[in-house]
Amino acid sequence: MTQATLSKPQPNQMIQTKDAKSYAQADIQRIFALQQKKALELRLSTAKERIQKLKRLKAAIFQHKAEIQTALFADFRKSAREVDISEILPTIGEINDSIRHLKSWMKSIHVATPITLFGASSKIVYEPKGVCLVIAPWNYPFQLALAPLAAAIGAGNTVMLKPSEFTPNTAAVINKIVKSAFADEEVAVFEGDVSVSTALLEMPFDHIFFTGSTPVGKVVMAAAAKHLTTVTLELGGKSPTIIAEDADLKLAAQRIMWGKFLNAGQTCVAPDYVLIPKSSVDQFVQYAKEATEKYFASKEENFVNNGDFCRIINAKNFSRVTSYVDEAVKSGAKIAYGGKFESGQNFIAPTILVDVPKDARIMEDEIFGPLLPIITYDHLDDAVQLINSKPKPLALYVFTSSSRTAESVLKRTSSGGAVVNDVILHLVNSNLPFGGINHSGHGSYHGYFGFKAFSHERSVLKSPKFSLPTLMYPPYTNFVKYIVDTTTKWFV
Ligand code: NAD
Repeated sequence: MTQATLSKPQPNQMIQTKDAKSYAQADIQRIFALQQKKALELRLSTAKERIQKLKRLKAAIFQHKAEIQTALFADFRKSAREVDISEILPTIGEINDSIRHLKSWMKSIHVATPITLFGASSKIVYEPKGVCLVIAPWNYPFQLALAPLAAAIGAGNTVMLKPSEFTPNTAAVINKIVKSAFADEEVAVFEGDVSVSTALLEMPFDHIFFTGSTPVGKVVMAAAAKHLTTVTLELGGKSPTIIAEDADLKLAAQRIMWGKFLNAGQTCVAPDYVLIPKSSVDQFVQYAKEATEKYFASKEENFVNNGDFCRIINAKNFSRVTSYVDEAVKSGAKIAYGGKFESGQNFIAPTILVDVPKDARIMEDEIFGPLLPIITYDHLDDAVQLINSKPKPLALYVFTSSSRTAESVLKRTSSGGAVVNDVILHLVNSNLPFGGINHSGHGSYHGYFGFKAFSHERSVLKSPKFSLPTLMYPPYTNFVKYIVDTTTKWFV
C-alpha cells in the first residue's frame, strides 16, 4: 500500500448516514407493493432469464470494482487486495456457481410414492418465496449484501436490501450497482441506520435473510414472527480453536494468525480463542509472532503504518474491544504480543493474551477484533467441556495430527461448521452449507443451499383416477374395515 493511498479520507467520513426519515414509510410500502406484483410475474421466470439477471449483476460488479475498493478503504481502511480476496471474489464465485448450476437446481425432484397411494406420483417443486428482505452487516459489507442477493435472484425472488449504516461508502456503491442492473420493482436498496431496518421489518415479507449479531437476530426473528415470515439468520458467536497435544504447532500458528487478523479480527468465523495444552503455549506464541510479522511485513512497533491491516470499524467498537484487554489484564492476563492502540485511528494492533482467566469478559462476548486469548487445558476433555458450556458457535476448529482426536472432538461438540487443521476455509466451498446453529444462526446458504434458502420446497402429488384412499371414504362399511385391516398388516 502506498503513502498516497493511505492519505485517503479517514474511516466513515465521506457520507452521512441516512435514517428512516430519508425514506417515508409510504416509499417502503410503495416499493413493497411494486415488488409483490413483480414477484407474481417472476414465479414464471425461466432459468435462462434468471441467469441473464445474474450475469447483469456480475457485469455491474466488475464495472464498479475500483469504486468498491475505494469505498471499503474509506469505510475502514480495508486494503484493495483484501477487498478482492474477501469481498469481490467470493461474491463473483457465488454468482458463477448459480449461473453454472441454476438449471439443474430449479428442476423438480421426483420422489417415491408409498403403496398406500398406489398409482399416484410425487415431486418436490422449487418455487420462489416472493418478496425477500436482506439485511447486511458491516464487517464484509459488500459480500454479505451481494451474495445473499445473488442467491435470492437465482431463486426467482424480488429483494429489498438494507446494507449496514457503518459502511456508508460501500452502501452507496451497492445502491449504484443495483440501480444500474435492476428496477426498484425487482431489487431496491435502502441505505440507512436501524430505523430503516425497523421500518422495513414492519412489512409482511415472504422471507427475511439477516446477517448480523445474535442480539439483533432475536429482534429480527421477533419482527418476522408477527407475519409468520420465514427467516435465515446468519449470526455470530465465539468460535473456539482447539490445539491438541499432537498438533503441528507451527502450521497451527500460521493458519490461526491468518484467520484471526484477516479484516482485523472482524470476521464472523474468526478463531475467537485458542485452547492449548500448557506445555505448548510458549512455542505456539513464538510461532504466532513470527507468522504475524511475516504476513504484514511489520514489526510490532510498525503495525500502525501497515496498509494491509485494516481498522476497527468505529469508535464504539474500538472502546468495546480495547476494554476487553484492559479488563483481562486487570484480572491477571498478560499481553504476550501487541497491545498497542490508537483511538484517533481506531487502530488496534494484533494482540495475543496469555494467562487469561476463563471468566474474563473477553471469554464471554464475541471479540470481533484482533485479540487472541490463549486458554490452557490439562486434558482434552476439559477443552470440550469449556466449549460445551457456551452457546453453540458458528465455527469450531481443531488442530491435530490424529483423525481419531479430530473425530472425537467433532462428535462431542456442536457448531455451525467445523474445520480440521485450518480455519475459515469451509465457507469457501460452496458445496457446503454455511450457517450457524441456535445462537449462531438458523438455516444456511452458499451454492445450492442459498438457492434452497430462498425457495419454498413445495410438495406436489398427482392422484390417478383410481386411488386406494377413496376405498376408505365413509360410510365405514365392513368393506372399509377389510381394506383398513389389510393396509394395517402392511405396516406391521
Ligand atoms: P448488527 O446485528 O449490529 O447489524 C446488522 C444489521 O442489522 C445492520 O444492517 C443494522 O443496521 C441492522 N440492525 C441493527 N440493529 C437493529 C435493530 N435493533 N433492528 C433491526 N435491524 C437492526 O451486526 P453488525 O455489527 O453489523 O455485524 C457484526 C455481527 O454480525 C457479529 O456478531 C458477526 O459475528 C455477525 N456476522 C455473522 C455472519 C455470518 O455469516 N454468520 C457474517 C458476518 C457477521
